[in-house]
Amino acid sequence: MLRVAIDGPGGTGKSTIAKAVAERLGLEYIDTGAMYRSIALKSIRKGVDAEDEPAVVDMLSDTVIDFNDNKVYLDGEDVSGIIRTNEISMAASTISKLGPVRAKVDEVSRRLASTKNVVMEGRDIGTAVIPDAEVKLFMTADSSVRAMRRYKQLLEQGKPADLDEIKEDIEKRDYQDSHREINPLKQADDAVFMDTSDMSIEENIDAVCELIANKTGRDV
Ligand code: C5P
Repeated sequence: MLRVAIDGPGGTGKSTIAKAVAERLGLEYIDTGAMYRSIALKSIRKGVDAEDEPAVVDMLSDTVIDFNDNKVYLDGEDVSGIIRTNEISMAASTISKLGPVRAKVDEVSRRLASTKNVVMEGRDIGTAVIPDAEVKLFMTADSSVRAMRRYKQLLEQGKPADLDEIKEDIEKRDYQDSHREINPLKQADDAVFMDTSDMSIEENIDAVCELIANKTGRDV
């Protein structure tokens, strides 16, 4: 059994790295943030206030979230593409504070990790979802570096971008994610800390694979 837990704040490149590592090692990649984003999308579509717990619980009672083949499904609909907006990022951060929302995502995440070898990324994987994961990593990067990476990405996609606004949003979400009551973003005591501010994507992938090799004795 091999479960790799990668946690850290938004915009650190966790998804890119986790996906590439999973591919290189033949593991399943699970993006738990995508599940929170899907629930946030549904709340926006239905006009449910993300802070109104009873209304969110009611909405969750007929919500099915699934993750398969790198895609996230909301009530059977592949929403992988449309959840990648700034609006959904903030809404996901707000709705993810609620216990019933976290319980729903945790249930799907744990089910997936119990049947497959996984690289799972999020905010609380090493602390709460799979605390006994074989490899635990806490990945971060300076907020200015993260903002610049996101800014360049948006420009490359031909989308409008304001660097100061992006940095502000990143810091606001960091604060919200690390100060919530239930399972906040935090490094697990036994997780390896990795600052990726000065690493290229390739260097980062190599560093994670090397760590997995050292921890598990696997030849990677
Ligand atoms: O990783 P991503 O940016 O897609 O996550 C969106 C939001 O979902 C985060 O800002 C965070 O509030 C929430 N999240 C969480 N726990 C996780 C993964 C994501 O609370 N394990």
